[in-house]
Amino acid sequence: MTSELAGKSFITTRIDKLTNWARKNSLWPMPFGTACCAIELMATLASRFDLARFGAEAIRFTPRQCDLMIVAGRVSIKELPILRRIWDQMPEPKWCIAMGACCSSGGIFNTYTMVQGIDRFVPVDVYIPGCPPRPEAVIDAVMKIQKLVEQDSWQNYKQELMEKRRKEKIYKGPFYPWRNR
Ligand code: SF4
Repeated sequence: MTSELAGKSFITTRIDKLTNWARKNSLWPMPFGTACCAIELMATLASRFDLARFGAEAIRFTPRQCDLMIVAGRVSIKELPILRRIWDQMPEPKWCIAMGACCSSGGIFNTYTMVQGIDRFVPVDVYIPGCPPRPEAVIDAVMKIQKLVEQDSWQNYKQELMEKRRKEKIYKGPFYPWRNR
């Protein structure tokens, strides 16, 4: 064996390192753009900021082909079931970015019609502050997701472990603000 390899180049790695490397460099985002933040998301994808440099430019409008949901904009209570359905239709493993103040916390829309933070209903991995966040902040969030993917292992990609992890990430606040109004 040793003599067969003599003089040849080879590398050794682990299968989950290899799949994570491929996965982190080929994220396919599902844009859930509802308001002004979505314009910044479009700018992130365009030539000036060029999200393609990070392998995440293949925006898909069908959740079954996506592994990264980017919620950009305010989410009304009427839109919530659609958001949830899209999230449920995305195959595992999947990640979620809450872009901007509105979807992270309700932002300036402190009203009974708006969801005061999507993390009450879908597990958010990375939050982007700002109103609206700059494209650089979106790129930073994608890089943070890449770090998460890199550190993960395919051994965690089991249904029960995934569900447990998702449940732990859902915000369990004492009340929904709009119920007190
Ligand atoms: S955070 Fe600001 S820019 Fe983004 S959707 Fe809300 S109001 Fe619009």
